[in-house]
Amino acid sequence: MLEDKFGRRFHYLRLSITDVCNFKCNYCLPDGYACDSDRDFLTLPEIKTLVNGFASLGTSKIRITGGEPSLRKDLPEIIETCALAPNIQHVAMTSNGYKLESDIHKWVDAGLNSLNISIDSLDPRMFAAITGHNKLETILRGIDKAIALGVQVKVNAVLMKQYNEQELTHFLSWLKITPVTLRLIELMQTGDNQAFFNHNHVSGLPIKEQLLASGWGQLIRDKAAGPAQEFFHSDYQGKIGLIMPYSKDFCASCNRLRISATGKLHLCLFADQGLDIRPSLRAADSSELQTKLVELLGNKEATHWLQDGFTGATKHLAMLGG
Ligand code: SAM
Ligand code: SF4
Repeated sequence: MLEDKFGRRFHYLRLSITDVCNFKCNYCLPDGYACDSDRDFLTLPEIKTLVNGFASLGTSKIRITGGEPSLRKDLPEIIETCALAPNIQHVAMTSNGYKLESDIHKWVDAGLNSLNISIDSLDPRMFAAITGHNKLETILRGIDKAIALGVQVKVNAVLMKQYNEQELTHFLSWLKITPVTLRLIELMQTGDNQAFFNHNHVSGLPIKEQLLASGWGQLIRDKAAGPAQEFFHSDYQGKIGLIMPYSKDFCASCNRLRISATGKLHLCLFADQGLDIRPSLRAADSSELQTKLVELLGNKEATHWLQDGFTGATKHLAMLGG
């Protein structure tokens, strides 16, 4: 099992398969994707070596992310490669939902278990203002389809003072009748979004207080669960998760490692640099990969320094997948 010097265990791998994205989310890629790096993304055989190496070290859950992962034509094969790796019990994906309605069948057939879909507003005009795309209706239909196919669905919404701060009531009405977990994510500062962050960051704590005061209960966290705080209410089909990276002890329950689309290991979303493991992947050398991973994990720090405005090498989260 991958374990760091603080006793944290890493059974969860977040794997970015591309940094290309077709959306222009105002907090992430406001000017759209700029092709300023090579697009030498991990190939399917490299992904196979990677996931098998992680699986041998105790990884049981993989989340495929991006950029926008559904833009890769070999996505079903990537899902299948992850699902077939020994010991992998759960394959998840985070997507903007652009291809959800048309492609969900293929993803499920390939072995996808759960999906996080980003919806920052349930108002179609606000959704378009945030993402640059008028796609809310098809994404919502895609979510219904995914639920009908038995996929566990979470919806990610980034909290932004000037855009969706007043939308909690709208989201709550939707959760009454929709069996998804809504994850309200505090906006994180990245290298590129400082001014936007200063104008829009809001804490999730007042929402937590509001939920507790209106009959929502906090779920007891499983020891292996990540840093989200989850809430339930018997009148609602859906649940709520709060992700508050600026809160005390957020990093204590860190259970994930990240791989960039070009094969760099990131020990933290806000690490100084990615660590190159591509040579072992190119050589399809799983045992060298395992030795390297164990060695590199020794450098993982106790926490990020986001509260001090230190965002590491992360210019925007499309680089690494959130
Ligand atoms: N393109 C896919 C999507 O949007 O779901 C996957 C990649 S995206 C980087 C993963 C998640 O990170 C999304 O839910 C997105 O809303 C979130 N995200 C991006 N930038 C963020 C930021 N600065 N602060 C908080 N969440 C952010
Ligand atoms: Fe693309 Fe996801 Fe970033 Fe939006 S949040 S621009 S969909 S990578």
